[in-house]
Amino acid sequence: MDDLMKRTWAEIDLDAIRHNYHAIRGVLPEGCRFLGVVKADAYGHGALRVSKLLQDEGADYLAVSCLDEAMELRRGGITMPVLILGHTPKEYTGMLIQNDLTQTATCLAKAVEYSEEAVRLGKTLKLHIKLDTGMSRLGYLCEGELFEEGVQNIITSCGLPNLDFEGFYTHFAVSDEPDEESQAYTREQFRLFTAVLDAVEARAGIRFPIRHCANSGAVVSYPETAMDMVRPGLLLYGYGDGGKLGLRPAMRLVTTVSTIKYHEAGTCVSYGRRFMTERRTRMGVLAAGYADGLPRLSSNRCSYRIEGKDAPQLGTICMDMCMVDLTDIPEAEVGSEAEIFGPNNDIQAISDAAQTIPYELLCSVTKRVPRVYRNE
Ligand SMILES: *Cc1c(COP(=O)(O)O)cnc(C)c1O
Repeated sequence: MDDLMKRTWAEIDLDAIRHNYHAIRGVLPEGCRFLGVVKADAYGHGALRVSKLLQDEGADYLAVSCLDEAMELRRGGITMPVLILGHTPKEYTGMLIQNDLTQTATCLAKAVEYSEEAVRLGKTLKLHIKLDTGMSRLGYLCEGELFEEGVQNIITSCGLPNLDFEGFYTHFAVSDEPDEESQAYTREQFRLFTAVLDAVEARAGIRFPIRHCANSGAVVSYPETAMDMVRPGLLLYGYGDGGKLGLRPAMRLVTTVSTIKYHEAGTCVSYGRRFMTERRTRMGVLAAGYADGLPRLSSNRCSYRIEGKDAPQLGTICMDMCMVDLTDIPEAEVGSEAEIFGPNNDIQAISDAAQTIPYELLCSVTKRVPRVYRNE
């Protein structure tokens, strides 16, 4: 910590991630595989560190969003299977194969391209087919009138040379939302997923070894969707509905009080003069701003945890600093730590104030913020 100059840092509790991994495993059916989602630098926690931990603990699979993220893992010594969730241009087929990466096939046309490239190289590419059951993002279409065509496209894909279709998956849109309409939507997505699987097996005798669809929301609320593998991201880091499984937040974003001053009532604070003191105020200047990942939209609408108390944030959050009210926290001094979010300051309150979700806050912690790993 000494070499960090104690400005702003993100503590990553590796024990929490280890605990969360085992706690999630504990609620899975016997034999169900575990894929840890480590895209976006493991939601800001450090993809390589988290992947090494998961590899050591015996996870089965990792997922990233793109080839660059996958290569970071391979270059860092990660040898376990890695699934790329997003698109990879066909020009990189050789790189995928060479590095033993699993690519998602999102439609017949792309499967054909990968097959042609793989044939040209005389090698085999491993793929998981993705079905679009209601996200309307990536995946083979199969809804309504498109059912027959979707099933046929999957069967045709599976017949293409030099492709090994190891898996089959879909992604839920509202598995983390508790209302009845969302529940019905999720059940319908799952029904469509299994209907397509059944049709492909009935007509062509094709069985995919790894069928998966459960993201964090589904792991908590739809255990019946676990199938051959689950695919949690947020839960692994202890956020979302992790409380229900006794999970622990792994990241604690911390900054420090750099200056304390007194201002009389009626003093304007920060850009835009959006806050004016109503009383003589003992004001702390914190050494973190939106260039560190504090959402500017939460300005004047959140509080940070200082010396065990909530310090209201005052005025517009600046690029590198922001102000807090320390009037009622006399024990706070220059150098005191301020928890922006973490085990003692719920990330949900900050994300609500910023009209966003914990996911975005976690991946918004910028590269200026050093990650400090605890409990290696
Ligand atoms: C990001 C992602 C996940 C993980 O989602 P969480 O809500 O963090 O569990 C799973 N599957 C796919 C396809 C994803 O893109």
